[in-house]
Amino acid sequence: MSVDKVRSVHGIAQLSERMRAAGMRVTPQRQAIVRHLVGDRTHPTVEAVHAAVAAIMPTVSLKTVYQTVHDLESLGEVRLLDVGTGSVRVDPNVEHPHHHLVCARCGAVRDVTPSVVADVTAHDQRAFVIETIEVVFRGHCATCAPQSPSTPSTRPTPIN
Ligand SMILES: [Zn+2]
Ligand SMILES: [Zn+2]
Repeated sequence: MSVDKVRSVHGIAQLSERMRAAGMRVTPQRQAIVRHLVGDRTHPTVEAVHAAVAAIMPTVSLKTVYQTVHDLESLGEVRLLDVGTGSVRVDPNVEHPHHHLVCARCGAVRDVTPSVVADVTAHDQRAFVIETIEVVFRGHCATCAPQSPSTPSTRPTPIN
C-alpha cells in the first residue's frame, strides 16, 4: 500500500487550498460539509451528513453533499464505502488503513485494525500485488447482539 495516500482530513483552510488548486469549487456550503466530516468516526451516510449540515446551513442540498464527498474522495481526503447498508458511507479516517465491522441490524459501522488479515496479505503478496484491501465483517453490534455471550476466538480488535 502506498504511504503517500495515507492522509487525514486537513484543516479547513489547507483543504480549501487543495480543492481550489484541483479546480474544485469552494463554497461556504462545501466548507460546512468538510467541517462536519473532520474527525467523524461514525461513518455517516451521505444523507446523514446532509441532514446535519442542512440543520445549520439550510441552503445545502443533498446533491452538493454528494459532489463534495466525491471531490474529497478524489483528493484522497475521505473514503466512500459501500458496506451493503443501502447508502454511501463517508469515512474521513484515511490516515490509518483499517477494515470495518458492520451491524446487520442497525447499520452501525466501526473501524477495526488490519492485523486480523495480515497473514492473508503476507501470503498472497508473493503471487499477487495487492494495492488495496477492503474487508467487511458482518454481524451485530453490542446493542443489537442476541444475548448469547459467546466470544469468537477471531474477534477483531476495535481501533477506538
Ligand atoms: Zn447494531
Ligand atoms: Zn472506517
